[in-house]
Amino acid sequence: MSSASNVSKITELIDKLESKRILPKSELTEIISGHTPETDEYLFTKARAVRERIYGKDVYMRGLIEFTNYCKNDCLYCGIRRSAKGAERYRLAEEQIIKCCETGYKLGFRTFVLQGGEDGFYTDDKIVSIVSGIKEKFPDCAVTLSIGEKSRESYEKYRKAGADRYLLRHETANSEHYSRLHPKELTLANRMKCLADLKELGFQTGCGFMVQSPYQTAENLAEDLLFIHNFQPHMVGIGPFIPHHDTPFSNEKKGSLEMTLLLLGMIRLMLPSVLLPATTALGTIHPNGREKGILAGANVVMPNLSPKDVRKKYLLYDNKICTGDEAAECIACLGKRMESIGYRLVTDKGDYKE
Ligand code: SAH
Repeated sequence: MSSASNVSKITELIDKLESKRILPKSELTEIISGHTPETDEYLFTKARAVRERIYGKDVYMRGLIEFTNYCKNDCLYCGIRRSAKGAERYRLAEEQIIKCCETGYKLGFRTFVLQGGEDGFYTDDKIVSIVSGIKEKFPDCAVTLSIGEKSRESYEKYRKAGADRYLLRHETANSEHYSRLHPKELTLANRMKCLADLKELGFQTGCGFMVQSPYQTAENLAEDLLFIHNFQPHMVGIGPFIPHHDTPFSNEKKGSLEMTLLLLGMIRLMLPSVLLPATTALGTIHPNGREKGILAGANVVMPNLSPKDVRKKYLLYDNKICTGDEAAECIACLGKRMESIGYRLVTDKGDYKE
C-alpha cells in the first residue's frame, strides 16, 4: 500500500473506532501494525477531545504506597519476583502506611493506592485494619488496592472495610501468551475470575497490560483491546515492558513510547470515561513520557508516596524514575509538567464519571 493510502485507511479505521467504540480484531490489528506519526496525531487529537469533554483539563493524582516487596509469585518479568535474589525485601508497618497518607493528604492527594507483592504476612485481617484505618482518618479519600489475586471472600472483606477500587492488570488476554510470562501455577483463567469477582463486588475495577512484553504480537494487543471492551473496566493501567536485570527477561527489548501512546489513544476512544494513567514506566522510557501520555488521552498520574528509604527497593524494572525524591518534590515537578502542556493536577478523589 502506498503511504498516502495507508494513512487514509488508518484514519478511517480511527474514525470507525471512535463511533463504534470497538472494531473487529483484524481492524484493530491493522491500526496497531500500520499506524504512522501522522495517524498518531490524528488519533491523539480525537482522544484529547473525548477526554476533555468528560474530564476537562483535570489530571487526577493517586498517591502510590508500595508497602511490601515480598512476593510469593515468580512472574518472569517482575523485579520483585520470588526468585529475584538481589531484591532487598521490606515491609511497611500499619503506622508507616498511615504516615504516608498523612503526608499525601497535606499535599492534596485524595486517593491512596496500596500496592505490593503477594505477601502472606499481610493477612486479610491486617489489610482490613489498614484499609479501615485509612478510611476512618481520611473519610474524604478513596482507597485503591493492588495486591494481586485473592479469593472472592477476601475481596469481599476488603470491600466491606471500605476499599473503593482495585487494580489487577490482566497482563495479556491471550492464555498462551500468559503462560509464557508466568509460572505454570498462575493462569489467565484465575486472573479473569478475580477481575469478574472484583467488579461484581462493586469495586471500581482496573485491568491492564504491559506494552510489548516478550512474545507479544500485534494480534495479542488487539485481543487485549477486545477483552477491555467486553469487560468495561473503570480504569486501565498500561505501560511499556521494561526489562529487569535480575529476571529471565533481562535481555529482552523494552516496549516503545510510540506503541504505548497509540494504545492509550485507542483505549480513550473505546472507553471515553475510563481513568487512564500515564504511568511511571512511561515516564521511565522517555523524559517526557508522562506528558506525552496525557496528550495521547490519559487523565491520571500516580506519583510515589512510599517512604524515601524503601523506594529504591520496589524495583519492578530497571532505571525506575523518582526513586530519590520526596513526595513533595514529585508533586511540584509533576504540577509543573502538567502546566507546561496546558493541564492541571487537581485535589480531587477523581471518581469514574458515568
Ligand atoms: N502484585 C500485584 C501488583 C503487581 S505490580 C499484582 O499482581 O497485581 C503492578 C504491575 O507492574 C504489574 O501488574 C505489571 O503489569 C507491572 N510490571 C511488573 N514488572 C514489570 C516490568 N518489568 N516492566 C513493566 N511493567 C512491569
